[in-house]
Amino acid sequence: MITNAYPASLQELIRQLAKLPGLGEKSATRIAMHLLRADRDAVERLAASIQELKQRIRTCERCFHFTDQPLCAICADPARQNGALCVVESSADLLALESAGIFRGTYHVLQGTLAPLDGVGPDDLRIKELIERLQREPISEVILATNPTSEGEATAHYLLQAVRHRTLKVSRIAYGIPMGGDLKYTDRVTLERAMEGRRTIQ
Ligand SMILES: [Zn+2]
Repeated sequence: MITNAYPASLQELIRQLAKLPGLGEKSATRIAMHLLRADRDAVERLAASIQELKQRIRTCERCFHFTDQPLCAICADPARQNGALCVVESSADLLALESAGIFRGTYHVLQGTLAPLDGVGPDDLRIKELIERLQREPISEVILATNPTSEGEATAHYLLQAVRHRTLKVSRIAYGIPMGGDLKYTDRVTLERAMEGRRTIQ
């Protein structure tokens, strides 16, 4: 419980901060105290960048990664249009692959996985947009890089069926990432092995 010894506005800040992932009330209080002592400029810059996040960040109209332009930096780079398209669940997974620096093509962010029990079907993901890209862009290989969880596997399987009739190389990342694992928590070497060890499934 946040004690009443704090002024109301400080209590409110602690409550809001404590909702952030990885922060409990203790660390929220520590951050609030830090902001209280920090100079006004620094605090205003932080507040402005949080506000800008919601005002300016949108999704790329081609791949659905986060961007503040119509196209993200990867889609806007002609050198990345090399025919390889890597399909990931989330922008966090895309960023993990990018930080590892192991893939030089373009991406498609599904914004989730199929989860019929939670009511998430193909129409809730960016699958229609993926199929349209395959018709429009000169893509020769699709790498299915959904996570090796049961939902990720089911989504990869669904996508394989959806593109089966096309003349297209389809591969699935394979080695290195353990079952139940998550790309964004996987180290660079393991990601690299998973990408190199991808197997053709069409
Ligand atoms: Zn993009």
